[in-house]
Amino acid sequence: MTVDDDPYVLSSIERDLRRHYGADYRVLKAASPGEALENSRQLKRRGTAIALFLVDQRMPEMTGTQLLGALKEIHPDSRRVLLTAYADTEAAIQSINEVGLDHYLMKPWDPPEQKLYPILDDLLSEWKSRAHLPFDGIRIAGARFSPQSHDVREFLSRNLVPYQWIDIDEDASMRELLSSYPGGLAKLPIVMFPDGTFLSAPSNIKLAEKVGLPTQASAPFYDVTIVGGGPAGLANAVYAATEGLRVVLVEQNAPGGQAGMSSAIENYLGFPNGITGADLAQRAAAQARRFGAELLTAQEVVSIDRNDPYRVVKLASGAKISSYVVVITTGMSVRTLDIPGIQRLHGLGVYYGAALSDALAYRGHDVCIVGGANSAGQAALFFSRYARSVTMIVRAPSLASKMSHYLVERISHIETIKVATNAEVVSVSGSGRVEAIGLMNVATGESFDLAASAVFICIGAAPRSEMVGEFVDRDEKGFIRTGPDLPRVNGKPAGWDLERAPFMFETNVPGVFAAGDVRAGSDRRVASAVGEGSAAIFSIRKYLDTV
Ligand SMILES: Cc1cc2nc3c(=O)[nH]c(=O)nc-3n(C[C@H](O)[C@H](O)[C@H](O)COP(=O)(O)OP(=O)(O)OC[C@H]3O[C@@H](n4cnc5c(N)ncnc54)[C@H](O)[C@@H]3O)c2cc1C
Repeated sequence: MTVDDDPYVLSSIERDLRRHYGADYRVLKAASPGEALENSRQLKRRGTAIALFLVDQRMPEMTGTQLLGALKEIHPDSRRVLLTAYADTEAAIQSINEVGLDHYLMKPWDPPEQKLYPILDDLLSEWKSRAHLPFDGIRIAGARFSPQSHDVREFLSRNLVPYQWIDIDEDASMRELLSSYPGGLAKLPIVMFPDGTFLSAPSNIKLAEKVGLPTQASAPFYDVTIVGGGPAGLANAVYAATEGLRVVLVEQNAPGGQAGMSSAIENYLGFPNGITGADLAQRAAAQARRFGAELLTAQEVVSIDRNDPYRVVKLASGAKISSYVVVITTGMSVRTLDIPGIQRLHGLGVYYGAALSDALAYRGHDVCIVGGANSAGQAALFFSRYARSVTMIVRAPSLASKMSHYLVERISHIETIKVATNAEVVSVSGSGRVEAIGLMNVATGESFDLAASAVFICIGAAPRSEMVGEFVDRDEKGFIRTGPDLPRVNGKPAGWDLERAPFMFETNVPGVFAAGDVRAGSDRRVASAVGEGSAAIFSIRKYLDTV
C-alpha cells in the first residue's frame, strides 16, 4: 500500500509499483493517513495480509513516521518504507528505531529499476518467507507440548519450508480425522503433504527427502567438502564457488548454524537496523547456490579420513564424499543443564537455545530465559513481543557483566521483561509440561518457585568437533588448532610430514582446514565466522596448487 497526499507523487509511484509488482501483488493507494488507516483496518478484518507500506514522510495530517507507527499496530508483520526528501533524512534515521523502519527511499526514485525495485524486491522476498498466508501446502498436526512436534516444526522453519501448524489439542475435528489414519495418534506429529501422502513422526532426513531438500551429493568427487552450514561454512561455500571450485557443503540440520537461531543480529556490517539470523542464512544459502555450491541438509558427518591425495568424509547414512580439501566449520552447540526435571520435560517447555518459532507457541504465556550473555538478551527482547512476561535468570549480580550495553539498555525499557540476578535454576517441574521452575539466590542461598510455561536455556556452548576424534589436533576443550597455533615438536606439528608449515586455517592434517567457532582462537561472532570462512579460501587455493 502506498500513501501520499500529493496526487502527482501518488499516481507516479502507484504506476511504477503496478508495472513491476502488479502480477504478484495488489497495489493499493491512499491519499491521506486517515484513508490508509481505515483501509488497513478493513483488510485486517478480512484476514488480508499487507506485504509492504510505502509512505511519504511529509503529509499535513500526520508525518509518515507517525503513520507507520500506527500501521505497525494493525499489521505488525508488514515491511515499512518511508519516502523522503533529502531534508527528511534525519527523521528517517530516527524512525529506524521508533517504528522499526525497514528502509527509506529518496525522492525522486528514478530510474526505478535501480533505486526502487531492488530494495522492495529484497523486502518483499523477506516478508514472503515469513508471512502467514492462506495456505494449501504442508500441514503439521501435533501436540504443542511434544518434543517431536517441536523438532519437526523447527527443522522445516529453519529450512524455509512453509507449513501450517495444527494443534490437535485445540482442533477436535483434526484429532478425529487423524485417528482414522493408519497408526492413529500414536506417532505424532503427522505431516500431511499436498499430494495426499503423510509421514508420522518423520526423521529429518525423511522429511528433507520428501519436501525436496537436497540430501545426496550429486557428484562422485569435489575440490572442497565443507562440514557445517553456519556463517563460516556458508561464506566458505560462496567464496570457493566463486573461485570456480567444485564445492559441496554438508549440514546436519539447516543452513544458518547458531546464527540462524538469533532473533536480531545487530552487529553485522551493512544492516543498520539488524537482521534476523534466519534472513542472513537464507541470503547466504541462496548466494552459495547461485554460484554453484551444492548444499546438502539433514546429513551428519560422522568422521573424516585421509586417503592421499583425497580426504574422505563419512556421513551417518554410511555414504562417503571424496574431495581434495575438507573444511570443518561445525561451530558450537549449546551447553546443557543437569538439574531435576530437566530431562523429563525437555521439549515439553524446556528448550536449549531460543528458536524464533517457539516465540509464537508461547504467545501470552510466562516464560523464562536462562543466561546473561547476548544470545539470552536477544531472545528476551524477541520473546517479549509475544509472551505475557519474560523473566531472565542471570547468575551474575547484574546483566551488564556479560551483555552488550545496547541490549542491557533496551531490556531496561521493556516492562514485561524482568531480570532475576544472582539467580540459578535448580529444578524444573510440571506434570506433562513445564509449570514452574525452582530458583536459588546464589548470594543468600534462599530458594523459591516461579510459575512459567517454558524455560529457554542459553548458557553458552561447546565446540562440535567430536567427529574428528584424534584425526586432527584439538586443544583441551575440543577446539581445533590451526596454522601458527598448532603446537610444534622439533619445529613441526604432530604427524606433519611436509617441508612447508601449515597454511593459515590448516590443521595438522594437510588439506583439512577449520574456520569459525570450532577453531581454537576464533572470536565467536558472525562477522568473524564469515571472515574466517572467506579468508580460508586463500589457503585452500595454495593447497590445491600442491596436489
Ligand atoms: C542465539 C544466538 C544469538 C547470537 N547472536 C549473535 C549476534 O547477534 N552477533 C554475533 O556476532 N554473533 C552472535 N552469535 C554467535 C554466532 O552465531 C556464532 O559465532 C556463529 O554462528 C558461528 O558460526 P560458525 O559457522 O562457526 O558455526 P555455527 O553457527 O555453530 O554453525 C555450525 C553448523 O555446523 C553444523 N554441524 C555441526 N556438526 C556437524 C556435523 N557433524 N555434520 C554436519 N553438520 C554439522 C551445525 O548444525 C551448524 O549448522 C549468536 C549465537 C547464538 C546461539
